[in-house]
Amino acid sequence: AKENGRGKFCVFAPEMNQRVFEYLWLDTNLRKALENLQLHIHYQPKIDWDGEVHSLEALVRWQSPERGLIPPQEFIAYAEESGLIVPLGRWVMLEVVRQLADWREKGIHLRVAVNVSARQLADQSIFSDLNQALKEFQFDDCPIDVELTESCLIENAEQAHSVIQQFSELGAQIHLDDFGTGYSSLSKLAHFPINAIKLDQSFVRDVHKQAVSQSLVRAIIAFAQALQLRVIAEGVETKKEDIFLTRNGVNERQGFLFAKPMPAEAFEKWYREYQSK
Ligand code: C2E
Ligand code: CA
Ligand code: CA
Ligand code: CA
Repeated sequence: AKENGRGKFCVFAPEMNQRVFEYLWLDTNLRKALENLQLHIHYQPKIDWDGEVHSLEALVRWQSPERGLIPPQEFIAYAEESGLIVPLGRWVMLEVVRQLADWREKGIHLRVAVNVSARQLADQSIFSDLNQALKEFQFDDCPIDVELTESCLIENAEQAHSVIQQFSELGAQIHLDDFGTGYSSLSKLAHFPINAIKLDQSFVRDVHKQAVSQSLVRAIIAFAQALQLRVIAEGVETKKEDIFLTRNGVNERQGFLFAKPMPAEAFEKWYREYQSK
């Protein structure tokens, strides 16, 4: 077409190639990464209102022999598109349960929240996999929580209700991730029986400096409290942010101020030091 004149094409084409190339690279290599144990999980603690750590978030990492450490932003979207997120998510879930069993042996009792993509929910095996892992490692009480996003709930409400119900029956709590960044109405969200919201870090950033952000955060916390949901703030980087959030009723905080996501062994060391303080 004429609109796609020469100038435009010239700028566009190399970018397209780049994306196609990236897709193909991921297509061969992420599959291999899953098989060859190149994926790792880092754990980031959440600090409770009383300063205790009861729960962590599991964040996947890819140690590629070719490219080094690859953050999830660079492969999760591809994994969702290609469907690889299903086996990847299953691996994460099983690995986390195994790790929790290992910690339990060492007298460390924690919960871990796992990120679950919309695409994984269409696949019923996620529930039987989790159930089987819990049995295999002899957990009577499920130590796993599940982080879902708003769009995940809203785009297929019927499925979302059934998913929440099935996770709840297993004993997992449901946390609504990146809260406030979707465009869903609060009244719609209020219908889902979730347990907590995770206040997105875009609201947390510099909250102590701007009156508008403060009002927003207060309004979100009021909404959560009205529905008896806990509020977890993510991406807390400074003491000032933390003070504002805690004063205004946030229940748990997570962020670089306290700890970065770490491999299991590093977390263990951090946790022992943290507890002895
Ligand atoms: P998310 O679930 O919103 O995770 C929070 C992200 O913020 C993590 O990035 C974490 O490392 C980062 N973060 C934590 N504290 C701070 C802070 O104080 N400051 C800043 N600037 N960032 C902080 P990460 O690990 O790169 O993960 C990115 C996203 O990838 C996650 O966002 C999640 O949506 C997705 N993801 C990670 N692991 C998994 C997984 O196992 N399954 C699925 N489906 N998605 C995953
Ligand atoms: Ca998350
Ligand atoms: Ca988040
Ligand atoms: Ca996010």
